[in-house]
Amino acid sequence: MSDSLLPELVDPFRLADKSRVLDGVLDLTAMERLAEAMGRSAHGLCRVVLCFDRGASGRPRVTGHVVAELAPLCQRCLEPMALPVDTRFEMRLVQEDRHTAGALDEEDVLVVGDERLNLAALVEDELMLCLPVVSLHPLQDCAVRFQPEFSSRDVKAAHKTEENNPFAVLGRLKGEQDGDS
Ligand SMILES: [Zn+2]
Repeated sequence: MSDSLLPELVDPFRLADKSRVLDGVLDLTAMERLAEAMGRSAHGLCRVVLCFDRGASGRPRVTGHVVAELAPLCQRCLEPMALPVDTRFEMRLVQEDRHTAGALDEEDVLVVGDERLNLAALVEDELMLCLPVVSLHPLQDCAVRFQPEFSSRDVKAAHKTEENNPFAVLGRLKGEQDGDS
């Protein structure tokens, strides 16, 4: 893998005609949708290899390999959690003005407008697919070692007796949990 920064826009159909390989890095810092999905900005670079060609069927396609170190916020303790990503994908390239309604229903079709493909947006989409629906540290690594396995009755009972001090509820439940183990 190379350390050169990938171009922002490419013509994927020309690249496919020439069977070109793009090998380089992209800056994660600029990926705002990824930042929103992770609950915090991404930092650093991701490594990307994209192979453009025409497959056995002659149809243009891109196969990609993306490696990154992400750190979404844990939804339990709100601290970052390490999430190494190493993902591969393959997509058929379809020109926006030529696509048929059928092509859009297929999986892994990338519709490209004006013969220009935004590489950062493509890679950002792939990285977002690698995020868990809910990011959570493994319990033993989480700053909040609080298991969500209390019944609502337990919580209500704790509330009733300690409603003037909401933090006491947490302390009480935590105490019960520690006592169990
Ligand atoms: Zn956590």
